[in-house]
Order: sequence, then C-alpha cells, then structure tokens
Amino acid sequence: MQADVVVLGAGMIGVSIALHLQKRGKSVVLMDRRQPAEEASYGNGGVVHREGVFPYTFPREVSEILRVAGNREVDAVYHSSALPSLMRPLLSYWWHSAPARYDPITRDYAPLIAACLEEHKKLAEEAGTADMLRPVGYLRAHSKQHALDAELEKAEKAKRYFGVNYAALDPAGIRQAEPHLNGPFLGAVHWVDSHAVNDPQALALSYVALFQRLGGVFVTGDAGSLARQGAGWRVTAADGTAIEAEHAVVALGIWSDRVTSRFGYAPPLFGKRGYHLHYHWQGNAFLTRPVVTDSFLLAPMRAGLRLTTGAEFAPADAPPTPVQLRRAEPIARGFLPIGEAIEPTPWMGVRPCLPDMKPVIGAAPGQKGLWLAFGHAHHGFTLGPITGRLIAEMISGEPTCLDATPFRPERFR
Ligand SMILES: Cc1cc2nc3c(=O)[nH]c(=O)nc-3n(C[C@H](O)[C@H](O)[C@H](O)COP(=O)(O)OP(=O)(O)OC[C@H]3O[C@@H](n4cnc5c(N)ncnc54)[C@H](O)[C@@H]3O)c2cc1C
Repeated sequence: MQADVVVLGAGMIGVSIALHLQKRGKSVVLMDRRQPAEEASYGNGGVVHREGVFPYTFPREVSEILRVAGNREVDAVYHSSALPSLMRPLLSYWWHSAPARYDPITRDYAPLIAACLEEHKKLAEEAGTADMLRPVGYLRAHSKQHALDAELEKAEKAKRYFGVNYAALDPAGIRQAEPHLNGPFLGAVHWVDSHAVNDPQALALSYVALFQRLGGVFVTGDAGSLARQGAGWRVTAADGTAIEAEHAVVALGIWSDRVTSRFGYAPPLFGKRGYHLHYHWQGNAFLTRPVVTDSFLLAPMRAGLRLTTGAEFAPADAPPTPVQLRRAEPIARGFLPIGEAIEPTPWMGVRPCLPDMKPVIGAAPGQKGLWLAFGHAHHGFTLGPITGRLIAEMISGEPTCLDATPFRPERFR
C-alpha cells in the first residue's frame, strides 16, 4: 500500500495529525497496535485545559520534596525500583522548574495552549461532535489555605499575562456551583475558559471517523516495524501488508522513544502513570463539571463519576499498583455521595513527559521525512488538534500558524 504519510500511534495526538493531513489532501495511513485512543487518550480527565499556560513543575521546596519522598501521599507516588532510571530526567525536570528557567518555558508554552480550544472546536464541528465540548470550565478546590492562595496567585498571573479568565469562589460559591460537593474546601478557582468532555475516547473516535470519511485508512500493526525504504519509509501492518510512504510521523506517546532511538534520537522521555475508576452516583447526586481537589480529579462522565489520580513515577509497562486510588476513594466519599465502583479493576494510562515540560513537535534530526510529536504530559488531550495542525503544516511546507521553534526536537540532542 502506498501513502503520502504514515502516522504511527492513534492516540489524540496521532489521530489529530492524521486528520489534519488528510484534510490537506494527503493520503494518510494511521497505524496503532490497538484500536484508536485506547491508551492515555482513553482514560484521561477530559478537560481541554485552556487555562493550562503553566505546565506542571517538579516541586522546588525541600518540604514538598520530603512530603512526596515518604511515598504515602495521594497526589504523587513512585516505584523505588524505577528511581535509578528516572533520576536523570527527574533531575533535569527539577532543574527546568527553577523560576528563572520556568518563566521562559511558560512563555513558549502559552501560545500552544492559547490555540487549543479553537482547534478542538474546528475539528469537533466538522466531525459533528461540537456538543461534546461543554463550556462549563472546571473547579480547583482547596482545603489548605496556602494551596488556595497559590492557586489564586496563579490565576491572577494567568489572567494578567495570558488573558485566561477565572472566578474565585468562596465556600458558598462552591455550593452554588456544585450543590452536591460538601467538602472542607476553603475556596476554589473556577477556570471558566476550559471545556469538559464526558467521554474523551468518543471525541477522539469522532475525529477518526471524520478522517476515514475523508479517505484516510486506519490499520493495526506494530510501529516497531518502521524501516527506511529508499528515500521514504515502510511499516508492516498486522495482516502483513507493507505500507510505504514518503513521510512517517511518530506519535506513540510514552512509547515514542522506543522507535526514535533506533533512528538516533533518544529524548529523556519519562512517564507519569495515572489511574481511573468509575463510580455510580447515589440518588440524584451529580457534578456539573470536573473538580480537582488537592490530590485527585473527579469528572462526570457518560460511564459514571470518573476518579482519576495524580502522578505515579514507574516504568510504563510495570504491573499496575493503584495505591493512589485506594487512598483517594475514601476522601472522595467524604464529600460527594457516590455509590459502588462500576469496574472491578482500575484503568491505567501514562502521561508522556519531557523534562522541559514542552512537547516535541517537528522534524527528526538527520532523518529526512521522519516527524515527531510526543511528550504532551498532562495536556495531550488538550493539545492534540493544534499539534496535528502544526505537523500537517510542516509536512505540507506551509508556514506554521504559531512559532513552533520552542518545540523543535533538536533541543534534546
Ligand atoms: C489519569 C490521566 C488524566 C489525564 N487528564 C487529562 C486531561 O484532563 N486533559 C488533558 O489534556 N490531558 C490529560 N491527560 C494527559 C493525556 O491523556 C495525554 O497527554 C495524551 O492522551 C497523550 O496522547 P498521545 O496520543 O501522545 O498518547 P496515547 O494516547 O498514549 O497514544 C499512543 C498510542 O501509541 C500506540 N502505540 C504504542 N506503541 C506502539 C507500537 N509499537 N506500535 C503501534 N502502536 C503503538 C498506543 O497503542 C497508543 O494508542 C491525562 C492523563 C492521565 C493518565
């Protein structure tokens, strides 16, 4: 089979890239070893983080590092056995999180975030699923004064420097916004610009359906089969079909470096694993929008109330250890009337992270026709469509809609 481009990985990033290329008249094959959007792009919190101009930092205060080092927290845990391999990327993450280095990172990152919502809306409109993007924002509710103060300070900065809108809520305001949320919250920031999706996989699948309506082809197969074929690339689908293309795009989330390292590019990619479980509601209880507490997220989904956890530092493929869910569940039950868990075992996914908190978007160094798009960390569901547009513009030789140089792969050479 011959194509202009083969896109490897059908998470939100790869799906959006394939769709944008197909819309530009390229013939595109999208390949995944599973069905589309079954990994991180399946089980996330469904928030399109229009407010997310400040990427998540590594803690800098000694007290905070010691708190997490105890490995008994809800928001962050780690596998001790993973620490030796994680040490280098985490040290670099910590280094980049220092204020002097973090401020320019934020200035690089903010334009990408600023484009996220409009780009999602355009694709969802064409896919016929615009109503899935609910303009309800989300709440960050805090029960500790210092955390609330920091959130309010961040919100004010986001507003002043990046035009992000928010509302500060006191406990009465929280009750008015979410009548069933009855926790020890001192206040909340309502990030009003962000949108909530109550079935993130369904939104991604609607983009896949549009891609296929436009003539795009989805195949299952192992991206590990990627090889040079003359001036272009070749991969082999699960049914043995060889696919040849002038361009190949690696959008394999946390697994991206396994393929790119074979072609001389080994970025310091590391994973933050997360879990979710759905719960029945008790009686008529509901949440209108996602709520992030000090240590986990609760999101109303089609499947029930989704509780998603924070970061677990562990190898991507190590067996699941959902201790954070076990710790979070009783806390959630303390302030929201929820019933039984719906699934017998939790879902697990991996956020693909890079130490400088920015994704890699661009041409692979020294490999003509090879393109890279991964490392979107906590915001990959948010940033799929704008990433797709940028890669499609680059491959098509068009000017990019925003300056993509901060995301160039060469920075990790
Ligand atoms: C608990 C949790 C909550 C989150 N909440 C949010 C949120 O609210 N908002 C937000 O914006 N982001 C959120 N994120 C982050 C977001 O989900 C990820 O950044 C995003 O899904 C990454 O997309 P991706 O396409 O890069 O990777 P993935 O979705 O992981 O896709 C990678 C694809 O590559 C395929 N693949 C891997 N290896 C191979 C191979 N060898 N051959 C073929 N295919 C292969 C996989 O099967 C997979 O389909 C959350 C993440 C987690 C874990």
